[in-house]
Amino acid sequence: MDLFEYQGKQYFARFGIPVSAGGIADTVDEAVQQAERVGYPVVVKAQVQVGGRGKAGGIKLAASADEVREHAGRILGMSIRGHVVRRLWIEHASEIEREYYASFTLDRSARLHLGMVSAKGGMDIEQVAAEDPQAIARRHINPVDGLSTDDARWLVDAAGLDERAKDGAVEVLLKLYRCFVEGDCDLVEINPLILTPDGRVHALDAKVTLDDNAAFRHPEWEEFRAAQVLDPREQLAREKGLQYVGLDGDVGIIANGAGLAMSTLDVVNQVGGRPANFLDIGGGASAAVMAGALEVINSDEQVRAIFINIFGGITRGDEVANGIVEAMRRVALRAPIVVRLDGTNAEQGRAILKQYESDRLISRPTMVEAARTAVALAKGVGASGEHPAPVAEAAEGAAR
Ligand code: GDP
Ligand code: MN
Repeated sequence: MDLFEYQGKQYFARFGIPVSAGGIADTVDEAVQQAERVGYPVVVKAQVQVGGRGKAGGIKLAASADEVREHAGRILGMSIRGHVVRRLWIEHASEIEREYYASFTLDRSARLHLGMVSAKGGMDIEQVAAEDPQAIARRHINPVDGLSTDDARWLVDAAGLDERAKDGAVEVLLKLYRCFVEGDCDLVEINPLILTPDGRVHALDAKVTLDDNAAFRHPEWEEFRAAQVLDPREQLAREKGLQYVGLDGDVGIIANGAGLAMSTLDVVNQVGGRPANFLDIGGGASAAVMAGALEVINSDEQVRAIFINIFGGITRGDEVANGIVEAMRRVALRAPIVVRLDGTNAEQGRAILKQYESDRLISRPTMVEAARTAVALAKGVGASGEHPAPVAEAAEGAAR
């Protein structure tokens, strides 16, 4: 999960990293209230999960309520590289003497943590890396040992930070590394990390990516998650506890088990279709779960056909079939369903589906045939007049 800047700063603050006083605002009036509270001058900052907000006009200094009003009004609703600004962060403006860069991330190929520091902060670090790689000091850190004060000192020396900034920067790096490890992050980045005229070293921006695998031990992350802007389909799926990833095709997919769901996407692609999503309903294909899954798929206006691919294991085929029939009663579907049912009690399941067979509910014996039918329906070719072409050996092999 990527955090918004203001969330990243809240996270930093927990680890003692100096950040500016500020507050969030979703309206112009709230922006003025926050500015009055933190004291002028302030910075009005667009909260979107994309870099380069400054260049795009999403970061503005304001010395009075009128200026806050003007900037907040202009930034709210602005689109920055496809991200619409719905929220602002208003913080007390800092005086900047120097802008630096600092980050910790995981270097997977080296199987080590990687710390990076540069005296060329405030600009796109990828650009610095491309134009002047020497300007970035890098140090691998063994996670078993952690970051020592000597490592941190080495980084600030190698990066050539100003003498006056070094002690403060070492302190920030040690805290930032703790945030990275104890805070279970995949990435922590401060750009710019600033030196103020009075000699303080301070985080002016925050980019934090949390490691979702650690979510179980961070109940407090729920608050961050609640503020994330999700695809409405993914939002609905999350509320229903479903493993869903939205894609941009027109064949809705429901399968049990992540592996089968992935193969289903592949087979739909293979027969010339475009999946609208990944959806794994897991072990329980009950009517309630199936209805929830169909509701999520139905909320996607692009979906023209739904492919349900279930391999019965613990969940028996007859239960699955009853679940589908019951779910169809509960949800008024816009698109027809094609089912491929196999595994435990598949015969009984197919017999149940047969009773309800129509041009809205079609059963097919194999994965490839079902995929072909679903893709044909999505393309507007009727299923009744459609005779699936002989199944290619290779395709069939892949489908099993
Ligand atoms: P980004 O463009 O999305 O990376 O947003 P940043 O938060 O990094 O801000 C971009 C730039 O705005 C910084 O590099 C600073 O030059 C400037 N800026 C941000 N906050 C302040 C502040 O408090 N005071 C001053 N003077 N400039 C600021
Ligand atoms: Mn920045």
